[in-house]
Amino acid sequence: MKARPEARNMGLILYPGSFDPLTNGHIDIMRRALERFDELRVVVANNSRKQTLFSAEERVELVKESLANEARVSVVALDGLLVDYAREVGAKTLLRGLRQVADFEFEFNMAAMNRHLYPEIDTLFMMTGADNFYVSSSLVRSVAALGGDIDRLVPAPVALALRDRLTTSTIDSGPE
Ligand code: ADP
Repeated sequence: MKARPEARNMGLILYPGSFDPLTNGHIDIMRRALERFDELRVVVANNSRKQTLFSAEERVELVKESLANEARVSVVALDGLLVDYAREVGAKTLLRGLRQVADFEFEFNMAAMNRHLYPEIDTLFMMTGADNFYVSSSLVRSVAALGGDIDRLVPAPVALALRDRLTTSTIDSGPE
């Protein structure tokens, strides 16, 4: 995807999340953010307290494979505090998606906390695309675990990885 010169008005935006796994919903808001920012970095949370289907390394790899042609997208795994990382790389904007009202309270508190910790940071909320409001990593995991068709919900490398994982283990559809 090429940046429209007139729209390239801001530098780096960080897109933090679990990405367990990456879905087309994530990709939709990434593409939209890239129309306004020069560079987007996916920050995969490596939170050991949260049970995930894919390890942080696997989630990073799936983002890389799915967005291999996007020169302006990079991806890292992060163990520590997001605002510390943002400070370190000089990023002042975080990207988050909103699917429904239920997302709001948590996101509102998180954005406020991040600003408390790093007053220069701001969170940009993007509303989900009309085709993706029902797409979440947890539902994708559940549907895939029950043998449902997830091909139109996730990029091809993720669909493959889910099938692969399903033949070797049972999927826990727990929290996002
Ligand atoms: P987290 O565990 O931090 O919520 P997720 O990987 O579930 O991590 O989500 C990362 C971000 O992407 C969140 O801001 C979430 O709201 C957003 N997101 C997830 N699915 C969609 C979707 N279908 N449309 C828009 N945004 C989405």
